[in-house]
Amino acid sequence: MAKKLPAGFAPLYFDLEEKYTKKIPNLESISDANQTGFIDTHTHLDMILSDIESITGSVISIEDILENCKQTNMKYLFHNACDLESILNISNVLDDCSNVDNIQVFGGVAIHPNETVLHNNANNESELEVAPDGLEPPEFRDIHYDYDLGQAISKVEEIAKNDKRIKIIGETGLDYFRTGPSGVDIQKNSFREHIRLAKELNLTLQIHDREAHQDVIDILLSDISPERVVFHSFSADNTFAQICAENGWFMSFSGPVTYNKNTELREALCGIPKELILTETDAPFLTPEPIRGTINTPSNVPITALYMASYLNMSISDFSQQIIKNMTNAFDI
Ligand SMILES: [Zn+2]
Repeated sequence: MAKKLPAGFAPLYFDLEEKYTKKIPNLESISDANQTGFIDTHTHLDMILSDIESITGSVISIEDILENCKQTNMKYLFHNACDLESILNISNVLDDCSNVDNIQVFGGVAIHPNETVLHNNANNESELEVAPDGLEPPEFRDIHYDYDLGQAISKVEEIAKNDKRIKIIGETGLDYFRTGPSGVDIQKNSFREHIRLAKELNLTLQIHDREAHQDVIDILLSDISPERVVFHSFSADNTFAQICAENGWFMSFSGPVTYNKNTELREALCGIPKELILTETDAPFLTPEPIRGTINTPSNVPITALYMASYLNMSISDFSQQIIKNMTNAFDI
């Protein structure tokens, strides 16, 4: 039996049915929504476990998270390992996932843009880059000193090659929000290496783009993008979305599309071909309305999906079917 998740974490969708249906007009019943099932194309299962433990004191397992996901009819998840410690452990996480029936979990590996700077100048303590967001190298010292960036990316390659459940090179890209100017070149080089890897291994490139829209596009175009590209947790406006659409790049939407202030993001969602839309949580981060403030989990995808279907004036069943079709194309499943 799955453990009940601690209070303050992953409130069950069904408990909130009344709230959603009141808030979102033209909604079909949740049982209709449940016929097709939902997809989280980007989540961090290991980070969810550690957040739950540090915030609520409860220790739960990967299997508990997945059992919870089954209650909201999640069918497919993509677990992203984007720091070296998680990457070295991804096959164990995917093994744990395979213990739970009726839900399929795939993997993604990459050195996150914010991690790249911490691997720079390994073995040279004085020059180790300090990101201005408080990512202090001493917290991460061992693994960041043991592997320089090239060695870290080699590990990404090795693991992506050896575990067929890994479908994604990502999240990689550029993050100008959390990196000082001296980190930009390091991030760009790392991004290019990950693009090369995705092409060589014929995997989907999943992009983290935070306040770096133009540079991300420039690099993707100049280096010739891999066959399948997904912008994870898409955060730009409709103009940028149209450039992505012209290139056939997928756009995956998470909790922020439900936030009241994000009108431009919703315009982008409604302006692109439906064939390029995906859903995700980026859990434990970016919890959707109306449950912001709780730890996010993949079981919350239906909330974001309900909002998205409503914005697109689609039934939730049609929306879910479209997303499953898009997922098979985006990740070659
Ligand atoms: Zn993420």
